Amino acid sequence: MFTVYNVMKILLLRLPINSACKIASVGGMVSSKFYFEWLVRYPPLGLLYYGALLKQKGHTVKLLDGELMGYTINHITALAKQFNPDIIFSSVNIYNPQFEFETLKVLKDTLRCHIIARGHFPRLYPEETIVNKQIDFALTGKGFHSVIDITDAIEKKVPFENVKGIIYTDNGNIIKTANEEAFNFDTIPFPARELIDNSVCTTALSKYDTFTTMTASIGCPYSCTYCVDRYIPYQTRSIENVIAEIEECINKLSIKEIMFLDSTFTIDRNWCMHFCNEIIKRKLTFAWAIRTRADLVDDELLATFAKSGCISIHYGIESGNEQILQNLHRNMSLSQIKTAIELTIQKGMEVLGFFMIGNEGETTETVHDTMRFAQSLPLHFAQFNVVFPMPPSDTYERVKKKFGVDIWLEAYKGKNIPPDSCKPPNSTLSLKGLDYFANKAYLMFYLRPKQLWRLLTFKYAPYIAIRIFKILLIHIKQYFKRLSITPSSK
Ligand code: SF4
Repeated sequence: MFTVYNVMKILLLRLPINSACKIASVGGMVSSKFYFEWLVRYPPLGLLYYGALLKQKGHTVKLLDGELMGYTINHITALAKQFNPDIIFSSVNIYNPQFEFETLKVLKDTLRCHIIARGHFPRLYPEETIVNKQIDFALTGKGFHSVIDITDAIEKKVPFENVKGIIYTDNGNIIKTANEEAFNFDTIPFPARELIDNSVCTTALSKYDTFTTMTASIGCPYSCTYCVDRYIPYQTRSIENVIAEIEECINKLSIKEIMFLDSTFTIDRNWCMHFCNEIIKRKLTFAWAIRTRADLVDDELLATFAKSGCISIHYGIESGNEQILQNLHRNMSLSQIKTAIELTIQKGMEVLGFFMIGNEGETTETVHDTMRFAQSLPLHFAQFNVVFPMPPSDTYERVKKKFGVDIWLEAYKGKNIPPDSCKPPNSTLSLKGLDYFANKAYLMFYLRPKQLWRLLTFKYAPYIAIRIFKILLIHIKQYFKRLSITPSSK
């Protein structure tokens, strides 16, 4: 049957990162706010997918990105008032839900519109989300079907119980509908990147303007204990579909660099080889980067990656101790990691290694093993994260069982959390100790003459210097742009 959709005004919202955000330690030495505003300025890909789906149905869509544009609640309220939306879809992050709910309350009090929460927090804690009166609905899944169905139901004023993948209240009763159906990535339109200023998207390690992110697959079939992506069924897009999105990015938006955000890009070696050969065959000129496991690359694959424009590989290394790698169910050896990194460097690509401090069974000795291992590798960059148990990982479930508290919920409610529950159950180091070691790991890795020389003589060193200057310019430009926004009278 042919469905007629009427035009609604829909605002997609990514709220700014709260500077008081507590239990999110990204990168050890830097705050989450600094990390996302200065180092990793990714576009809001999930919201851009919603934008594409809603535009396809004829709705008028606007996106406000508080994170990338540095907007305060006053800026967001003023801009939202000008647009006067019928519906707001807002991300609610697990890191600072309290702040985001407060911000959405201000919007609800100012604008007479439906507010729909989506993202990590509503997916993990739907009941806790919907008890906030300013939230009319929350999406309990990825939302690629629900976003259209709920918009249609609001527009046509039909009952909501048939919309899958939502939670709402009716006469004080919480109604949670059936889960939304699985989606086929190839049937979803490409993210509506035209909704944002792509020139403000970049990372401290990007080489070219203009930059964007993309996803060629979701989920992961491995079973690392701390990981949340393993619970998402692995699904790859077709090569034709990914190539078509790349061509759209190059031709319509002059994108020159793409970071693939797949959890593990090289799971399907055959897919990767065909993908690279298609890039070469079509003479697509763009730089790209991926994240993967060190045991899923080989000489031929890396050579093909480099030939087709891959300039950087980010490896999840996590620890320099074999026993810790076993505790994490990583199923790979230190020698495999070393070989993969050396091969990647040989092919002329940049290499970044991710390490975790505070792993399952971590001791002072194993942390030092990790520091020593990081320094023994010819890495260009290393990132040392302090481990936080993330729901619904194994680590998180064991912490919850051991301490009888859900740390994320307790933090959301503003309660005091037992410090030991913010780290894996069998780590003997204190939280303070973990921070100390993460910072020490950075200093010992980067402040070595050998590493400084490696970075200074690295072929991309001038690009990175230019990039840092450009990020500064973005912030200056945005400062003046924000000045031109008339504050909301509310
Ligand atoms: S950590 Fe990486 S390899 Fe392990 S399950 Fe998660 S995505 Fe897969």
